[in-house]
Amino acid sequence: MAESGDSLRRHHYLAALGIEEWLPRRVAAAAPKAEPAQAWQHLADDVARCTRCELHRTRTRAVLGVGDPHAQWLVVGEAPGAEEDRQGEPFVGRAGQLLDAMLRAIGLGRGHNVYIANILKSRPPGNRDPSAAEVAACLPYLERQIELIRPRLILAVGRIAMQNLLGTPSSLGPMRGQVHQFGGLKTPLIVTYHPAYLLRKPEDKRKAWEDLKFARKEFERLA
Ligand code: URA
Repeated sequence: MAESGDSLRRHHYLAALGIEEWLPRRVAAAAPKAEPAQAWQHLADDVARCTRCELHRTRTRAVLGVGDPHAQWLVVGEAPGAEEDRQGEPFVGRAGQLLDAMLRAIGLGRGHNVYIANILKSRPPGNRDPSAAEVAACLPYLERQIELIRPRLILAVGRIAMQNLLGTPSSLGPMRGQVHQFGGLKTPLIVTYHPAYLLRKPEDKRKAWEDLKFARKEFERLA
């Protein structure tokens, strides 16, 4: 457990220093944007069989992600819920319907230039917050997805995704309206509210809309 925590901390420190952990930067830059379908298949098989944390005992299905493997947008949420655990696809419940509407509002659609994934690939029982050890065990899968997709922009939805991708205990509010960076590839990252939170607190939808407009503008600026 301590080792997992250490490796997560190391990841964040290296990321903050801009050091690529898995590939030297020049090799990474030279790598083709899309790797063969085989690489995705290996990843999908690894995730489906994963026993790196205890969540494998209670999950129905591991949930790798869904969407365009060449997408320029990557949406990252927290972890599968009950419906996602049953269907094996992220964001298919009520929160997923709102996420789809949020994406449509900025001209995107599930599977069209967007890939959707989570920090955790297995459902925490009762939808509790992921533990640090679970995140440390699972994050390499998301890092691999980012390496394969090479998105232009990551949209982190919700506090849990934001805290774990940016390695900060900050609340979400102060992190809005800025372009952060993730990992050795320094992928630009913008944060907004989680759709499940917005279902509970619809008065914050206006702020989420501001975030989405900001993300769209930055995405175009990064072109
Ligand atoms: N909430 C998430 O963060 N991810 C899902 O896949 C579903 C609900």
